[in-house]
Amino acid sequence: MATAYAQPAAANYYTTPSHPTPKQRGYRLCDQCGAVEQPNMRFRLCGGCMVTQYCSQDCQKRHWPSHKTICQHTSSQISAAKTGADIVDENLVKNLRKFTSAHSTLLSWAGFQALQLKRIPSNIRQQALLVELNYRQLSDSSRRFSIKGTHIVPRTYVTDNDPLVGADIQRREERCRRSGGIGTAVILIQCGEISQVMPVEVDSPSRISWDERADWADVLRHFVESGRTDFAPISTTARGIVYG
Ligand SMILES: [Zn+2]
Ligand SMILES: [Zn+2]
Repeated sequence: MATAYAQPAAANYYTTPSHPTPKQRGYRLCDQCGAVEQPNMRFRLCGGCMVTQYCSQDCQKRHWPSHKTICQHTSSQISAAKTGADIVDENLVKNLRKFTSAHSTLLSWAGFQALQLKRIPSNIRQQALLVELNYRQLSDSSRRFSIKGTHIVPRTYVTDNDPLVGADIQRREERCRRSGGIGTAVILIQCGEISQVMPVEVDSPSRISWDERADWADVLRHFVESGRTDFAPISTTARGIVYG
């Protein structure tokens, strides 16, 4: 079947690379010790907010005293949203979380491109990417969301709106810079009245080989609307083209 994306410029829309390469970005960090998830590890998600993640039960326990406030805040926001008057589907909140988690590499890559962090790393402190979604009650759960629009908004739109979220982003920001990164990119995923903030700790651009892509919004739309979760960013390196 012919499609408009049959011959993409560089992104691997249709072919999954046959040579598995080590995952470069889009990996998960333990929120307590900062350990990076490795293929042989299974990170656990905080069951309260479903946002923070840990390498071990031990780290989860140790993080709880400092995580408790933001965790309870997040879950109360979510239950408030669930009982909101104009919620089309009570599973919307749950499905939005699933969506964000399934597309986390794609979304963080889109944020990196949208804020042009490779060329202008300081944008990370000024701007945020807002991804607006539409929701449909389809039986195929992987295709319930579609992209309504993408916008660059001032980062204060997110951080000033909710001081607790702002403080948590700040904490990640400081941790990221201590380990040589440029800070925390903020991606806001919004569907009707419900939104999710996705903080992405970003390494120094000199350590990120991702190709710059002006068509990131089309790529985002394509993967979301076709329900594909196998997105892998492309890097053109001295060793050749690398996916991941
Ligand atoms: Zn840990
Ligand atoms: Zn939590």
